[in-house]
Amino acid sequence: MQRDTLENALFSITINPMLKPLISSIDKNCPKDGSLLLNSLKDFLGEPVPLCSTCRHISRKIANPFYEIGSRLLRADKNFMRNQFLNNEYGEAWLRGFGLMMKGIEKYGIRIPFVPAGPFEIVWNFTYQCNLRCKHCYENAGNTKRRELSTEEAKEVLDILSHISGIGLPALSFSGGEPLVRKDFFELAAYARKRIGYVSIASNGTLITKDNAKKIKDAGIDYVEISIDGATPQVHNEFRGVPGAFENAMRGVKNCVEEGIDTCIATVLHKGNLAETEKIIGLAKELGVRFMHFNYIPTGRAKAYVELDLTPEERLHVLETIGTEIIGLYLQAKEEEVKYGKSNVKVDRFFSTCPQYASVTKELSQKFGEKFMVEAHYAAKKGVENVANFLGGCGAGRLYCCLEPNGDIKPCVFFPTNKDTVLGNILKDNFEEIWDNHPLLWKLRVREDLENYIVDGKEVGCGNCPDKYICGGCRARAYSYFNGNVNAPDIGCIHNKPLWEKIVGNKKR
Ligand code: SF4
Ligand code: SF4
Repeated sequence: MQRDTLENALFSITINPMLKPLISSIDKNCPKDGSLLLNSLKDFLGEPVPLCSTCRHISRKIANPFYEIGSRLLRADKNFMRNQFLNNEYGEAWLRGFGLMMKGIEKYGIRIPFVPAGPFEIVWNFTYQCNLRCKHCYENAGNTKRRELSTEEAKEVLDILSHISGIGLPALSFSGGEPLVRKDFFELAAYARKRIGYVSIASNGTLITKDNAKKIKDAGIDYVEISIDGATPQVHNEFRGVPGAFENAMRGVKNCVEEGIDTCIATVLHKGNLAETEKIIGLAKELGVRFMHFNYIPTGRAKAYVELDLTPEERLHVLETIGTEIIGLYLQAKEEEVKYGKSNVKVDRFFSTCPQYASVTKELSQKFGEKFMVEAHYAAKKGVENVANFLGGCGAGRLYCCLEPNGDIKPCVFFPTNKDTVLGNILKDNFEEIWDNHPLLWKLRVREDLENYIVDGKEVGCGNCPDKYICGGCRARAYSYFNGNVNAPDIGCIHNKPLWEKIVGNKKR
């Protein structure tokens, strides 16, 4: 039995019965002061927050000693916490994340990986409309007549999100389709930013003119991710289905950079552009933007191009390539810190949505005698390696979920939309009830239930993998390759290569 499995069993019989009532005693909503969970953390970190006598008593006698012990156990530096929660422009998002984490422990106990009381991030596929025709579009977007929410309904959604799970959503990303196609986009983005701590967009970039880049900035959007699928127009445009898409997308990247917006080039790597990986990374470096590798997931329109999926060896090569880049930056930052006491190197530059990125960066860094790890989708913050198994790699239906343009809720954008994957509708159903109880969400959260298959007499799969608590495999890929079985192995992983060969290897590619 793995250590994390054993720890989960121990948590449920030892620590959780004590922790749940303790947090419950702090989780009060004071009619005068608001959330005591959040106020007591501010109080602990030294912010002079006004508290009524009851709140002050609970904060000083129960919450503060509890946070003191908790931060020592997690080796969380109080100065670091102060900077993130109080002195950071995204402090509100961090505070809400903390609130959801505490409420999650109160409701479901400490678990590996942990389950907050609501998602840290929601990706909202804001529209089915798109001006491009990309082969891999998970939303099958284009000129479609499917119903979307009106401006007023979308505002209602944002109001709900701002109070989600009694705390409020920390981060929201507008995706699509192409979010900028909607005429009310800037109005709704500004409305969102007033209610949510961190707002980003995922765009094809073609509509980001200088004027629109300024509007993005003025709406308060914190981060823009632009899809670039080739280092040359031929490769990008062939995949995106429209001539001129490359030039317009690159112009979009440059306009965002000029506006001083945190910008990222996002690339779905597949057979058709794999050879361009280094060149696209080079483009990102040249422009001084981040690079995010998107895993190829045969869903939506991409299902018809399954032959584009990378082999486990190819995927490993990609992860090692970008992993080497980020570890290079980490080592550079560390060296400067030793020499000068601080470093200005931005380490948060190279990411992947492949959950195997954690295993790969862990092994790469060990070669340099380091203990550094980057979890899929996350920022490369120092110290993440200490809690990597709690963060748990694939965050579908746990740290994150998605909304469809009509308000339907799904665990991840890469799940197809059908009666099994739609969990409810944000305007019609109670989100908290869904989050607490939906059986699909709990299937995605429990790593002990991941499965293995027998191949040539040997067990292969995520079920027995020592890295399943930091990775967990992409559950959307499992769904796609195993007809809806979300506990099946991710056959894109090098450890599951025999299964890949059995399932895909024999088919003509
Ligand atoms: S076998 Fe599964 S859990 Fe293990 S590293 Fe591969 S994808 Fe992740
Ligand atoms: S299923 Fe998990 S790993 Fe796959 S894309 Fe969604 S969140 Fe990422």
